[in-house]
Amino acid sequence: MKNLIEKLVNTFGPSGYESRVRDLILETIKDDVDEYRIDALGNLITRKGTLKEGGKRIMVSAHMDEIGLMVTHVDEQGFAYVTNLGGVRPLNCMSNRVVFADGTEGMLCARDMENGKIPSMDKYYVDTGASSREDCKVKIGDPAVFVGRFVDMGDKWMSKTMDDRIGCLIGIEALKALKDSPNEVWFVFSVQEEVGLRGAKTAAYGVDPEIGIALDVTLCNDTPGLVERNLKLGAGPCIKAKDGSLIGTPWLNNALYDAAERAGIPYQIEVLRGAGTDAGAITLTRSGVPSSAISVTCRYVHTPSEMVDVNDVKQAIKLLTVFLEGKIEK
Ligand SMILES: [Zn+2]
Repeated sequence: MKNLIEKLVNTFGPSGYESRVRDLILETIKDDVDEYRIDALGNLITRKGTLKEGGKRIMVSAHMDEIGLMVTHVDEQGFAYVTNLGGVRPLNCMSNRVVFADGTEGMLCARDMENGKIPSMDKYYVDTGASSREDCKVKIGDPAVFVGRFVDMGDKWMSKTMDDRIGCLIGIEALKALKDSPNEVWFVFSVQEEVGLRGAKTAAYGVDPEIGIALDVTLCNDTPGLVERNLKLGAGPCIKAKDGSLIGTPWLNNALYDAAERAGIPYQIEVLRGAGTDAGAITLTRSGVPSSAISVTCRYVHTPSEMVDVNDVKQAIKLLTVFLEGKIEK
C-alpha cells in the first residue's frame, strides 16, 4: 500500500493532464476488473461484478487530477507567469518549487510584495533558470504541479497530492478486496475534479448509476488556530452529511453508518461549510442519483505537504468494501 501511494503521488497529473496517473492505475487494476474503458474526457471507467437479485448499480469515484499551474506568458527575461489549475491559494504559492511535464523545475515567486500583502495569482512567476524567453524551456499553456516529497512519518503520511491519490488508493484497494457482491460496482477514476467536478459529470452520465459514492480527502480542523474542531486526523473515515456541492442522501448515509457499525469501524460525520467532491456532480446526473462520500481527513489540503493518517485510510478501504459487499436497502 505504501509503495503504491508513493508511486501515485509522484506521478504528474494536473487537471486535464491525467494520462500518466491513468496509465499507472490501469496497470495496477486491469487484471482485477471485468471491464474497462476510457471515455472522451479521459475518465477511467471500470466495472467489477454484475447485478444480482437485490443488488444496485453503484458508481464509486476518485479523482486522478491534482491542483497545479499553467503558463500564461513568458517575459523577455525568461520568467514564466502562471495561472491556477484548481484551488491554488496565492498564500501557499510563495517560495515553493514546481515541476513541468518534461521534468523542468522552477521556483515560484511573486513580484510586487509591497506592504507584506499576499500577492494575487497574476503576480506569480516561475524562475526556471532561463535568461531569456528564447532560452526558457517552458512555454505558454504548459502545465506544472507543486513539488512535495513523500514522507513516511509512521502513523501518518505527508506528501503533495494526497488530494486525491489517497482516494484513488482507497478505490484500488477496495476493488481488489471486493469478492462476492450482489452489486454491480463501477469504479471510476475521474479527471478535472479540481476545476469543477467535470470528469465525474460525463462519467456518471455514461455509467447511469443508482447510487454514487465519491472518495476524497476532506478538511481537518484539529490544528492550532482552527475553531470548528469537528473533524480530526486518526478518528476514522468520514461520511458526508454536507459540503458546498452535496447533501449526503440520508437513507444512503444510514446504510453507510450501518456498514461501519457492522464492521466495527469508527467514523466521523462530515459537515463542511463549502468545498465539493465528485459526489456533487454524480447526484445531479440525469434525473438525480442518491449520493454521498467517504472521505479521509487531511491536514494542509492544497499545499505541497498534505498529511493523512494511515489508519484512517485502512479503515476507509474496509468501510467501502463492507458497504459494497452488502445489500443496500432504502
Ligand atoms: Zn479532492
